[in-house]
Amino acid sequence: MRLLIATKNAHKTGEIRAILGPGWEVEDLTAHPEIAAPEETGATFAENAAIKAVAASELFPGVVLADDSGLEVDALGGAPGVRSARFAGPGATDADNRARLLRELTGFPSPARFRCVMALARAGEVLATFSGAVEGTIVGGERGAGGFGYDALFVPEGFAQTFGELPGKTKNGLSHRARALAQARDFLRKWVDAQSTPQR
Ligand code: IMP
Repeated sequence: MRLLIATKNAHKTGEIRAILGPGWEVEDLTAHPEIAAPEETGATFAENAAIKAVAASELFPGVVLADDSGLEVDALGGAPGVRSARFAGPGATDADNRARLLRELTGFPSPARFRCVMALARAGEVLATFSGAVEGTIVGGERGAGGFGYDALFVPEGFAQTFGELPGKTKNGLSHRARALAQARDFLRKWVDAQSTPQR
């Protein structure tokens, strides 16, 4: 099945492609310069996921999946949350955002979770949304070069290593993204079956 991921983030697309495995033709907005990414004006992950999925589906003749995700740190009242990508300001890099997080926190390890909401859309309408989370802690210094974003600072519950140190396969077996995507994949399989079943 062909699926457009409404992102230019190669890390997100790579993880989604790896989690879905064979049988899925996954592309993203880097292959579609005619589809502009909308401004993420929502107050929640769900709102932003819907904004991104709907905008791309108005220009793409198929199903679009959008991922809006981020880190919620208990000691920061759930920040950076929906502002995870721009925590250190507009145009911030992942390294800038990690540095700001370390500056803001005073105690380690600090309880946190990654959250992901995925929206599926077609022809300008949301078909469904799904949510996934993974609990863990933020450690006091970067560890590991794998992954992206805050991975080098996040130790998932039940592990001693950060997502930056753990193999990608391990992250993709338990991440917030994997948990949301498992539900989206099940939904899509049923949706495709229903589309191809003749109506009586
Ligand atoms: P979005 O593109 O608006 O959804 O922002 C996502 C941001 O959340 C990323 O730029 C990262 O900073 C952070 N983030 C989301 N998922 C992950 C992950 O799996 N690992 C590390 N950081 C993540």
